[in-house]
Amino acid sequence: MSEFKTGLNFALKLDRSDKLSHFRNQFHIPKHKDGTECIYLCGNSLGLQPKITPAYINQELKDWAELGVEGHVHGKNPWLSYHELLADNMATIVGAKPIEVVVMNTLTTNLHLMMVSFYKPTTKRYKILIEGDAFPSDKYAVESQLRHHGYDDKEGLILWNSREGEELLRYEDLESILKKKGDEIAMIMIGGVNYYTGQFLDLKRITELGHKYGCIVGFDCAHGAGNVNLDLHQSGADFAIWCSYKYLNSGPGSLSGVFVHEKHAYNKNLNRFTGWWSHNKETRFKMRDEFDMLPGAEGWQLSNPPILSMAAIKASLDVFADAGMDNLVSKSKQLTAYFEFLLNELHNDNIKIITPSNENERGCQLSIQVKNANKSLHHKLTEAGVISDWREPDVIRCAPVPLYNSFEDIYNMVERLKLILDEK
Ligand SMILES: *Cc1c(COP(=O)(O)O)cnc(C)c1O
Repeated sequence: MSEFKTGLNFALKLDRSDKLSHFRNQFHIPKHKDGTECIYLCGNSLGLQPKITPAYINQELKDWAELGVEGHVHGKNPWLSYHELLADNMATIVGAKPIEVVVMNTLTTNLHLMMVSFYKPTTKRYKILIEGDAFPSDKYAVESQLRHHGYDDKEGLILWNSREGEELLRYEDLESILKKKGDEIAMIMIGGVNYYTGQFLDLKRITELGHKYGCIVGFDCAHGAGNVNLDLHQSGADFAIWCSYKYLNSGPGSLSGVFVHEKHAYNKNLNRFTGWWSHNKETRFKMRDEFDMLPGAEGWQLSNPPILSMAAIKASLDVFADAGMDNLVSKSKQLTAYFEFLLNELHNDNIKIITPSNENERGCQLSIQVKNANKSLHHKLTEAGVISDWREPDVIRCAPVPLYNSFEDIYNMVERLKLILDEK
């Protein structure tokens, strides 16, 4: 028996017993053209703006106006060490130690910087393994690294595909690839939560498998950070990267997070691209020294960072610290299960949820495949005030985000979807 019931009253009851429901008020919810709040299910693409964000940015604008260059040292939050203010909260969100995390650059840039250090091809072992439907930017980045090192990008790329007629990845298929070709593979780089299906992979299991065959293992956690408990340190992964504008609500194009496992923190032999921000903080401004590497993830920084963007991240991380990742994950599981329940209650053979039904193998996203659908379905949903995401050929991706989505949102979304599907 399901813990859920149909009907609006039940949704309202769930909202009343939701300990995190007051967080919705801390966000700006976009308005539909009729003036009502949209049902915003696109936090996996661009998270909403916390209402406190402008104050955090204004603080830095004010210090800049009043102090000029002195803000680097005498600002309320001195800019020289501003990134350090983000490390603890960010590390907590992704399950890492502060020394393992830094916020810098953007996601694809950081993927390249990580590959400079961790993709170390040899004549015998130079291939890269990614998942078959990897996010395009990751695939392009990895292919360009193969070419950069003089390899053929088709021959050098090994794909972990789902089986014919299936959407989800199976670990036994990864294992059989590694059994056959493990000694040719230099690096495994996988999306921790798949952007298309929403499948949350077992990072520890993949890492252990990869390491057993001598491969470096890294993850793109763009769809995982702030969505699921990643436990990056425990996973043993060599590196990970993610962006802060999806579930981390830090604004369009905002900076990326990087994880480098503690076991690499003091390794000076690991090749890297460097700049003055990778150099020892104590002597950085003497400007004459031999390069002296900062230990930990910070040692991968190149430049002094954009403080205004970091201020938005700081605001968002403070909201996360307030809500607590465990509370968020627990509400997320309930919210998504309720969404799944209502979709199943439609008893419509034309829709199929391709996201795993096991709550530990997904985050908040449900990807709904609609038979014979085209993009007009997505337009109709938008017209009805539901902001979702369309992926060709026939999938609507919806992410009920525990910080600002309500059970009522989910109820209304499914009612509107039902009306549109019944129209045909
Ligand atoms: C969102 C996303 C990106 C985007 O990369 P940017 O460098 O931030 O533009 C890359 N990879 C994955 C898996 C993503 O989900």
